[in-house]
Amino acid sequence: MSAPLDASKLTIELTKTPSSPLPKDELVFGKTFTDHMVEVEWSKEEGWGAPKISPRHPLTLDPATVVFHYSFELFEGMKAYLDSKGEVRTFRPNKNMERMNRSAKRAALPEFDGEEFLKIIDQFLLVDKKFIPQGEGYSLYLRPTLIGTSVGLGVSKPDHALLYLIASPVGPYFGPNFKPVSLEATEYAVRAWPKGYGQYKLGANYVSSIEPQTQAAKKGHNQNLWLFGEEGYITEVGAMNVFFVFKNGDKKELVTPPLNGTILPGVTRDSTLQLARTKLSADEWIISEREITIHQVKEKAANGELLEVFGTGTAAIVSPVNNIEFRDEHIKVPTGDKFGPLTENVLEWIKSIQYGETEFDDWSRV
Ligand code: PMP
Repeated sequence: MSAPLDASKLTIELTKTPSSPLPKDELVFGKTFTDHMVEVEWSKEEGWGAPKISPRHPLTLDPATVVFHYSFELFEGMKAYLDSKGEVRTFRPNKNMERMNRSAKRAALPEFDGEEFLKIIDQFLLVDKKFIPQGEGYSLYLRPTLIGTSVGLGVSKPDHALLYLIASPVGPYFGPNFKPVSLEATEYAVRAWPKGYGQYKLGANYVSSIEPQTQAAKKGHNQNLWLFGEEGYITEVGAMNVFFVFKNGDKKELVTPPLNGTILPGVTRDSTLQLARTKLSADEWIISEREITIHQVKEKAANGELLEVFGTGTAAIVSPVNNIEFRDEHIKVPTGDKFGPLTENVLEWIKSIQYGETEFDDWSRV
C-alpha cells in the first residue's frame, strides 16, 4: 500500500546554531533563508514517508538524478504574513496546493493531500516564526518544491521524489524608488502554447523566459509582454498575469485573458477578479476574462480608451505598467509614473486581507 502524505508523522529537529534574522532594510528577495526546511520523501513502493523539519542543509544527489536531466521540477510561490497581533497568516494557501498538485500530475510526479502539507507548513512557520518580518509589505516568501529523484538516464516516470520547502524573508517589492514597469511586446519568443504546459508551475517554463527578458532589458524594458499567435494575443507579463482597464462606452472594463491553457492561473489573478466582481458597481464596471490582442490595446490607447495596465502576482501583488513597446512604437499608459486608481484599490483590498485587517471568505489562514 502506498502511504498518503500524513502531517501527524512530522518530526522536528531544531538547529543547534540558530542565526539572527537580518535587519529589515537589508532583505533581498530570495537571497537569505530561515534556519530550517521541510522535507518529505516519496517512493513508488512506499508512497509518502514521514515529513521532517530539520536545519536547512544542502541536498546530496547523484549526478544521474532525473531532476538534473529532464526537468522533473515544479514549485509554488506563496507568503506568510505577521498580523498586528503577532499571528502568522497565509493567503489562500489551498489554491497553491491545488495548483502544485496539477503541476505534479502534468510532470508525472506524485500528488499529495494539500491540506496535510499545509499542516506541515503551519508547523514550519511556528518553528521559524522569528524570521517573518513584521510590517506593511514585509512577509516570509515560501517556496514549496517537488523534484524527481530517481537515479538513471532512462526517460520515464520517476519512482522516487522529494517534496521540500525553504523560506526567504522579504521586504516590500516596491521600495522608495518605485517606478512602473516598461514592457517589450515580444514576438520572437513564446512563453506558452495551446496544449503545452504554460498553465503549470514547472521550472521549465522559467528557464526559457530569461534570454528574452535579457533582450528586452537591452532595449530598456523591465519585462516581456508575452504574445501568442499571428493575431498577437496577449497572455502574461514577465512572471505575472496581466490586467487592462479600458473605457468601454459609458462604463469601464477590467480585462484579463482567459485561462485557455497558455496562462498560469494566478492566485492573485483569481483574487483580483473575485474582489472586483464583489466590490465594483456593475452600473459602472464590466469585468471580463476575454481574449485581447496587442493591436486592440494599441487602438484603445490611440482612442484615449486605455486607462490602466498592471501585472498581478504573489511577489508584488500588483505591478503598474506605464509603457509597452510594440514593433518600435511605444504604447503609453496614461497613469505615467503613478499607480492607476483601480491598480491601487486592488493592492489595498488584497493587502488588508493578507495582514488580517479585513476578513474575506476563508482567504486568510491563521
Ligand atoms: N504567471 C506566472 C508565469 C507566474 O510565474 C506567476 C507567479 N507565480 C504568476 C503568473 C502569478 O501567480 P500568483 O498570483 O499565484 O503568484
